[in-house]
Amino acid sequence: MSKKILAVLFAPIFALALSGCDKLSNKKTEENKDKINVVVSIYPLKEFTEAVGGDKVKVTSLVPEGVEPHDFEPKPKDMEILTKSHLFVINGLGMEEWLDKVYETVSSNKDINMINTSKGADIISLKDNDLQDDKDDHGEDEHEELEYDPHIWLSLKEAKVQSKNIKDALIAIDGENKDYYENNYNVFSGKLDDLYKEYKAKFEGVGNKNFVTGHWAFGYLCRDFNLTQKGISGLKAEGEPTPQKMKSLVEYAKANNIKVIFNEKLASPKVSETLAKEVGARVEKIYTVESHEDNKGYLEMMKENLEKIYTSLK
Ligand SMILES: [Zn+2]
Repeated sequence: MSKKILAVLFAPIFALALSGCDKLSNKKTEENKDKINVVVSIYPLKEFTEAVGGDKVKVTSLVPEGVEPHDFEPKPKDMEILTKSHLFVINGLGMEEWLDKVYETVSSNKDINMINTSKGADIISLKDNDLQDDKDDHGEDEHEELEYDPHIWLSLKEAKVQSKNIKDALIAIDGENKDYYENNYNVFSGKLDDLYKEYKAKFEGVGNKNFVTGHWAFGYLCRDFNLTQKGISGLKAEGEPTPQKMKSLVEYAKANNIKVIFNEKLASPKVSETLAKEVGARVEKIYTVESHEDNKGYLEMMKENLEKIYTSLK
């Protein structure tokens, strides 16, 4: 069958499909009319906002799925998305390195409220952290750029702080639905507490507290459960390790009886495999939750992370 005939045959169906879409999108706009338009910088904030905001919010993440957030650059269409928002939610702590590029747009528009969800969090400073001793792991440049560890959403405790900040911002915009947001927040933070308690008890029972992962994203998770991470690449998932770094990773893995090398989708998977082979460990996937993966939600990804780390330490 020629392409022309195909086109003729499918034209009416296509037109029908289009008009169907049209109706659907009209309906959607209708449904979304009264919703608070929230733009978040990174994926976990989308989940926190949806958990607290429920059906009263429409949430868009600026960093698209599958993009390593440390590498993101805002485009003109992102500015457009931002100018239509009522609330702009950021992680803070240097996670949005591109913030100065959109700040003008956001701050000059009185209709957009901006909140930094790290406000009130118990922040890990990179200056007085033991990571500092291991200069090779980060490189001096990173220390100049990042003053704090930005990965707070990977702590179930700090995720509560972030969600609370989002809740307060939504109430400030939409006070009429205060009880609704309060109730949603209580339900979500209860789930965070339950998961925390479950693994606090589990991790107290294991002797080995050390694990190897893709990049240094798990500092807050480690603090919650008294664990120690060793990242293959730096705080921003950049670069491959030098031969010396690789050698020290091998020594570390052997000395700490590391059975699993954790691997992230967006950071150095090949290196994880090489290292695992070298020390007789297996590779397993871990979620930094910096992006939406495998159709799993925040709590699901966190539970899987904790269970896998726990199993690797048993
Ligand atoms: Zn990261």
